[in-house]
Amino acid sequence: MTQRQQYDAIITGAGLAGLTCALALSGRHLSIPLRTLVIDQGPALGQRNYAADTRGTAITFASRNLLEALGIWSTVAPHAQPFRQIIVTDAKTSAERAPVLLDFPRTGSNDAPSAWMLENGTLLEALAKSVEECSNIDVVTGQTVQDFSFAPASIHVSTSAGDDHAAALLIAADGRNSIARQAAGIDIVKWTYKQSAITLTINHSKPHDGRAEEHFRANGPFAVLPLTGNRSSLVWAEDSEETTRLMALGDDAFLDELKRRIGDHLGELSLANQRTSWPLELQIARRFVSSRLALIGDAAHVIHPIAGLGFNLGLKDIAALAECVHLSARRGQDLGGTATLTEYEDWRRADTMIVAAMCDGLARLFSNDVTPLALARQAGLKLVNVVPPVKRFFLDQAAGTAGRQPTLMTGGHL
Ligand SMILES: Cc1cc2nc3c(=O)[nH]c(=O)nc-3n(C[C@H](O)[C@H](O)[C@H](O)COP(=O)(O)OP(=O)(O)OC[C@H]3O[C@@H](n4cnc5c(N)ncnc54)[C@H](O)[C@@H]3O)c2cc1C
Repeated sequence: MTQRQQYDAIITGAGLAGLTCALALSGRHLSIPLRTLVIDQGPALGQRNYAADTRGTAITFASRNLLEALGIWSTVAPHAQPFRQIIVTDAKTSAERAPVLLDFPRTGSNDAPSAWMLENGTLLEALAKSVEECSNIDVVTGQTVQDFSFAPASIHVSTSAGDDHAAALLIAADGRNSIARQAAGIDIVKWTYKQSAITLTINHSKPHDGRAEEHFRANGPFAVLPLTGNRSSLVWAEDSEETTRLMALGDDAFLDELKRRIGDHLGELSLANQRTSWPLELQIARRFVSSRLALIGDAAHVIHPIAGLGFNLGLKDIAALAECVHLSARRGQDLGGTATLTEYEDWRRADTMIVAAMCDGLARLFSNDVTPLALARQAGLKLVNVVPPVKRFFLDQAAGTAGRQPTLMTGGHL
């Protein structure tokens, strides 16, 4: 069937980025909500198995402000575990319990927690429910976006069902292999870390007291991140061969490996869900915009999860884009015009490059067992730990409060 609908914005992808962006453009909190269409190839929003995403996301202080402005935070807050302490160690071998080099016993700016740990499934479900309840947002699922025509006055999108939709602006939130990005001919810079990360949730008998542990090891970081209750989210990176071996182990054998790495400070351990593995890579689009197109989330950038900032970058994309688009709407300007998109790209691409370079540098620095380098980084981390302004810089990065902040991330409204 062919039908044509005109929207202010079309968003391809109903993952974390697409759903959040729909609410930022069209939510009930807005003075001028836009009419938005979200298209996704997956099942209907109400029929998804959100728990299948076994990752957790460290939501920064700034990102929490955005979720609050969108009316999502109150729903997910009971499931969000504040970070009370972040410790970083340089563990030379996987089993070794290395001394703590960096310790953030306090929290972000104004003594609020610098971040909260939230399971992706919980956040996705809350976002999906809110999108479904929003009368300004239409959702089409079970269809892939196939063709795009970038006309001067509007963008046209056709789906696998033969439907045709038009809008002033197309927002690509269709992930790292974005079809929209490819259709616009935007190249990427990409390399792989030859590592994969296993993610899962564990139960433990002793409390974590809000302590996040990140053990930097030569074959990849091993992070134990606190969830609500006596549970933690694991991000366990290894070279790809070792990940394949670990993924193939039965639950009991895998748990034994896990116990050797975590030690006994969390008491008895058990697996709370299935393991998933993710190839680690860096990928940045050479441009974040094209004619009537803006890239957000993983469609624009994929970074190493060493600092847990990938989706937080995506949230900053969304808050910045929403601000640029709403400003244009208030001025009666073209929502998908060059002025709107250039402002968005200038705001986000440079900031993304800084964070991506920081995460890439950390991943490379620690993926190396050469002794002089190991000594230098240990000395560097110890220095960071004792010089307050330097430590504050790292805390601000962890809280997402560094750089130019979009209004929605500072507690303001559009
Ligand atoms: C191990 C690991 C740990 C991480 N930890 C953190 C963390 O602690 N903090 C943090 O901030 N970030 C973290 N991240 C990053 C974060 O998970 C991602 O940035 C985020 O999930 C990306 O969401 P997205 O919506 O941009 O993309 P995706 O989740 O990939 O969503 C894309 C959507 O587009 C749809 N789609 C794709 N193609 C089409 C098409 N042609 N037509 C229609 N629909 C389409 C898909 O169905 C999907 O729903 C981590 C990543 C990994 C791998």
